[in-house]
Amino acid sequence: MNFILGILLTLSGINSTYIVKWNLKDNKITSSITVKTSIWKVTSYCQCPKCCGKFSDGITASGKKVKVGMVANNWLPFGTKVFIKGLGEFTVEDRGNKKYFGTKEEKRKTIDVYFNSHKEAKEFGVKFLKVKVL
Ligand SMILES: [Zn+2]
Repeated sequence: MNFILGILLTLSGINSTYIVKWNLKDNKITSSITVKTSIWKVTSYCQCPKCCGKFSDGITASGKKVKVGMVANNWLPFGTKVFIKGLGEFTVEDRGNKKYFGTKEEKRKTIDVYFNSHKEAKEFGVKFLKVKVL
């Protein structure tokens, strides 16, 4: 047997999964595929001043009236659909604090899910879930 097929989980950063093929003859990794689905930090917000500060007017960064089904992310283009395991499909329409959500250059795997009330957002809290960019 010349090859070992395995799964390598990178521990630095947030859990990107790679499938690797290892050539035993040369002791080299000959191919690897990055799997798009990975674990993201999923947080929650509503339109109150506690969650949005001075941006608590109920209008998203893309200019729409904020509603359930919308999420904030700082590097996916507006209108991008994402699937969050256990929650369903959402559309990126908002942006978040660069300190927590990164920038176009620093693509952090974080997403902020909109809820209608502060109570619901608070109950959701912070979860680490599988997210797929559709
Ligand atoms: Zn709130």
